Formats: sequence, structure tokens, C-alpha cells
Amino acid sequence: MSAAPPARPAFSRAVIELRRVTKSYSRGEAEVHALRGVSLVVERGDLVAIMGASGSGKSTLMNIIGCLDVPTRGHFWLDGVDVRTLDEESLATVRNRRIGFVFQSFNLIPRTTALANVELPLAYAGVRGPERRDRALGALAAVGLADRTRHVPSEMSGGQQQRAAVARAIVTNPALVLADEPTGNLDSASSDEVMGIFSDINAQGRTVVLITHEDDVAAFAKRVVRLRDGRVVDDHRVTPVDGPPPRRGRDRSPASVAGGMPS
Ligand code: ADP
Ligand code: MG
Repeated sequence: MSAAPPARPAFSRAVIELRRVTKSYSRGEAEVHALRGVSLVVERGDLVAIMGASGSGKSTLMNIIGCLDVPTRGHFWLDGVDVRTLDEESLATVRNRRIGFVFQSFNLIPRTTALANVELPLAYAGVRGPERRDRALGALAAVGLADRTRHVPSEMSGGQQQRAAVARAIVTNPALVLADEPTGNLDSASSDEVMGIFSDINAQGRTVVLITHEDDVAAFAKRVVRLRDGRVVDDHRVTPVDGPPPRRGRDRSPASVAGGMPS
């Protein structure tokens, strides 16, 4: 069995800290080494793009960071908490309250309004009534969808659907937003629009980690980490963690950026 985790710095600003994390899958006789010893620290307020070829381990890494999977070896702290010490129920709470997920395929519930989709994580968190509705409307306004709250996914463009998915990810006010190829199904205009939203939510103080294999998308990040064959082969800071993101979304009034109520 693995030894007790090494001590962490007492005043770490790290939201994510991975030390020598490996992940292996057995596939019949063969073992697949998806991660071969990844050490990575992500500080609060960063906007990180994880890049790498298909099969390099990006999704595996994201699933571990998102507490959807556990390392084979190594250590992982989320917000200073050693995730291995949490039981299933605590893990579910962490996923619901501290992390917002955005997926390539939007994963909105069909035939259900944008508002109801965005209310869902709040429903799981036990938030009810007008507060739930108002917070969902605020999140939709923050992503520029104040006028689409009653639309169902099939009535929205891909970019609008992904913005609704970002609203759903931030409505619980998580410290960390994780996105696995969030622009993979979008044309370049919609992709820029969605990345502008990620920049905006980062500028409001949220830590964002996203996977992409497009340079245009990585251009929005403050830091770019490259994986190859399950290892970090490059880690490049573009702009300071506590500075503004390198690119921003369309200009919007401070009230709407703050997630204020739509009129
Ligand atoms: P990426 O997201 O960069 O394309 P993945 O993390 O999905 O890469 O996969 C990394 C490697 O691990 C690949 O070789 C993939 O086939 C393998 N892999 C991922 N998930 C599983 C699994 N559940 N079972 C077996 N092999 C897997
Ligand atoms: Mg992947």
C-alpha cells in the first residue's frame, strides 16, 4: 500500500496539486499506461489549457482532477484535501459544489429549457424556489443568454448550447471549472464566443482548466501544459495567474459580468 502523503506547504494557493500521478488500465493481457507520473500544481485564478495528441492522457488527467476517477499511484489534493480520504458521498458533494464540468457534447437535457437545465445542479444541492430560479437566471445572464432562458437545446445554436452548459457549470459557484474539449463541436466563431465566456469567468476569479488540441483555443489560456504519452512535456506560462486572461470575450457591462439579474 502507498505511504502517507507527503506534507504540503501550509499556505499553498493550489487548487489542484498532483504528485507523480500514474494511471494504468488493464486491457486483456496488456496494461495501458495512460499517465506515467504527472506532477502539476494549479493555483487559484489560473486559466490552464491542457494540450496533447489523441491518446496522450488528457481525459484521464481531467477525470482524476474532477474526482471522477482515482490515480493508480501518486497523490492528488483538491483545494488542500487529499481526495483519497473522502468517501463516495463526500466525493459526490465535492463534484456538485466545488467543481463545474463542461463537456464537448454540451450534455444538456433535451426538450428541457435552458433555465431548467441550469437549475438542475442547484436542485441536487437542495436549493429551491425563487432562489434557485434567480441564481439560474443570473448564471444565464452572465453567459449572455438572458434572452434564451425559455429555449430548449434544439432551439439554440451550438455556441448558445455550450454557453448554457457553462452557465450550468458555474451556477453552484464552484472554485474550479473543468472542460474537456469544450469547443470540439463548434465552428470557429462559436468557439471564440465560448472561450470569451471562459475568459470572463476566469476574470471573475474562477480557476479554469480546459482540454483542447486547437492552438486558437489555447490562445485564451494563461498557461499551456502539454502532455505526450502520459507525461507533461511542456509547461508554459503566457500571462500571470493574477492578471487578466490574454484574450477576453465581447465587452459587456460590469453588471452582467457580475452575473446580475436580467431585466
Ligand atoms: P486523450 O484524452 O488525450 O485522447 P485518454 O486519457 O482518453 O487520452 O487516453 C489515454 C490512453 O489511455 C489511451 O491509450 C486510451 O486508449 C487509454 N484509456 C483511456 N481510458 C481507458 C479505459 N477506461 N480503459 C482502457 N484504456 C483506457
Ligand atoms: Mg480525450
